Amino acid sequence: MEIRNVAVIAHVDHGKTTLVDQMLKQSGTLKELVEERVLDSNELERERGITILSKNTAILYKNYKINIIDTPGHADFGGEVERVLKMVDGVLLLVDAQEGVMPQTKFVVKKALEAGLKPIVVLNKVDKPAAEPDRVIDEVFDLFVSFEATDEQLDFPVIYTSAKLGFARYDLEDKNGDLTPLFETIVKHTPPPSGSKEEPLQMQIFTLDYDNYVGRIGIARIFNGEAKRGDEVVLVEQKTGNVQKGRITKLFTFKGLERLEVDRAPAGDIVAVAGFEDVEIGDTIASPENPVPLPPLHIEEPTISVFI
Ligand code: GDP
Repeated sequence: MEIRNVAVIAHVDHGKTTLVDQMLKQSGTLKELVEERVLDSNELERERGITILSKNTAILYKNYKINIIDTPGHADFGGEVERVLKMVDGVLLLVDAQEGVMPQTKFVVKKALEAGLKPIVVLNKVDKPAAEPDRVIDEVFDLFVSFEATDEQLDFPVIYTSAKLGFARYDLEDKNGDLTPLFETIVKHTPPPSGSKEEPLQMQIFTLDYDNYVGRIGIARIFNGEAKRGDEVVLVEQKTGNVQKGRITKLFTFKGLERLEVDRAPAGDIVAVAGFEDVEIGDTIASPENPVPLPPLHIEEPTISVFI
């Protein structure tokens, strides 16, 4: 199975949740989860009616697994947008075809272009009678120019969607009724992850999670090598540079909104990993023979105003 890692960036209410929900429904992901009995019928109903976008969603399309990492839709606390953008190879920029470019669109576009990503522009809500897709594309283009986008970034693909009605189209005259053009554009336009299974393990934590049974969990991208359950590894702390020995006690990959326990995961994949009680964002888990940290992730300390 090939992997693609993308982030969806959008101004709040432009349809990110609805679109990812439709992608899940139209891909084979939920059907597979039921066949594997990971989901019972109640859970399937729940997955079908997602109301909040999970932090990580993996969608199966043909022989691809598309990992979708959520980014904050409003204010960015602590540099989360920058961190997520370092974990992906592509980005879907979702813009309401009526409302056009909004403040949050500007913020996330700037960050995505700075990260060197080549966005796929998804003009959503084209079903709305007042939609003006041509005007909005011009706005997006001007925005890219204002942030000094490269020629490659300016040559962005455009897909017209109605997340609500569940269609994606290559152009406005098209009458296609499903999301195939969107899936195809994602797998073709997003570069495959770099890194090889043969190299020593290097994975970086970009989000933290907690589980009652296994404790603190790091959500990480594997940049090199292969992660295996039971492996003796080291944790290289970003903040202190300290190197501590440990073991991967549990490893999970994503499928739909589910976290599935696995024995191993290859370079390029997004995983959840347990075994380090004091793991922090930015830390690298590496093989003991090559305890080299990945480039540090940007972490802003929250600004707290105290009024006396
Ligand atoms: P998010 O904040 O970006 O996750 O946006 P949501 O997915 O929650 O959508 C915000 C609102 O826009 C909801 O009321 C959706 O039903 C509506 N919406 C989303 N996609 C479309 C679309 O393609 N067409 C129309 N007409 N409404 C949509």
